[in-house]
Amino acid sequence: MSPKPAPTGRDRLRIAIQKNGRLSEPARALLGSCGLSWRESPDKLFCYGDNAPVDLLLVRDDDIPGLIDSGLCDLGIVGRNVLVEQSSERDESGTPANFRELRALGFGGCRLSLAVPNDWDWQGAAQLQGKRIATSYPALTRAWLREQGVAADVVVLNGSVEIAPRLGQADVVCDLVSSGATLVANQLKPVCDLLQSEAVLAGPVAELDPQLAETAQMLLRRIDGVLRIRDSKLLMFQAPRDAVADVLRLLPDAEPPTSYSVDGGELLAMQALCHGVVTWQRLEELKRAGARGLMVLPVERMLA
Ligand code: ATP
Ligand code: ZN
Repeated sequence: MSPKPAPTGRDRLRIAIQKNGRLSEPARALLGSCGLSWRESPDKLFCYGDNAPVDLLLVRDDDIPGLIDSGLCDLGIVGRNVLVEQSSERDESGTPANFRELRALGFGGCRLSLAVPNDWDWQGAAQLQGKRIATSYPALTRAWLREQGVAADVVVLNGSVEIAPRLGQADVVCDLVSSGATLVANQLKPVCDLLQSEAVLAGPVAELDPQLAETAQMLLRRIDGVLRIRDSKLLMFQAPRDAVADVLRLLPDAEPPTSYSVDGGELLAMQALCHGVVTWQRLEELKRAGARGLMVLPVERMLA
């Protein structure tokens, strides 16, 4: 059972997002797609929601778990890497974290990877015994080393981690990678992923103050609606009744379609919400299967 909610004394939901950085714009865009808007400009620390009781606090991403933990913010948008690192820190110190991942948000994708110099012949974690690992994610790295049963030195760096082996500060690195170009530029190669990360919606482990829970539920429903249709399109077409089964076999990623007869029986007009990408090639295959008048329409909102 969740711990009892702590009263916040607030009647407006407060969400922490990154002020400046990779997650700032996509986080604001996601909340904007949920129909929320704010009065203040993005360079302010606090944005007052003007069409719902939802305010934004613009902060450094590293502060977001702590703000949720202390109850100063109710929700936050942050990289899973930051959330898991700070949970691992709490595990080390034996103080349980009062924050957790509520939803994966599908942007800010990256991995926390172990990377070694190009000339290493990587055989496995045992090779790290007694080596120095440079990282900005010490708690996560130590937890992984414990799991692997390897004793290595963790060298904590807060930036330019990839250059550490060239400077002689460390033998290998454990850092965030998206394209991998920075590793290549530093003659390193990724050999093992410790964590697959993306931006997540974080919230408290305890239930929210009942004053705020209703607004939070509304926001979660809207976020779920936005995420469900992010890559979705509405596909409209006509098909003779005897071709429908073949056409639908080509739409395994579609919701059950709605259809109605347009000429007293044999020709059906159909529409289906498609969750995968509808390419020209797919349209051509659908046409060969008997579909006609194919139209692909964007979907703006959905409430299940
Ligand atoms: P702040 O000033 O808020 O502390 P920061 O420098 O720690 O910012 P950013 O570089 O803006 O953070 O990255 C924010 C998040 O973006 C990361 O924690 C991670 O979840 C995600 N991210 C996605 N791709 C990458 C990448 N290639 N390198 C670093 N972070 C990435
Ligand atoms: Zn940061």
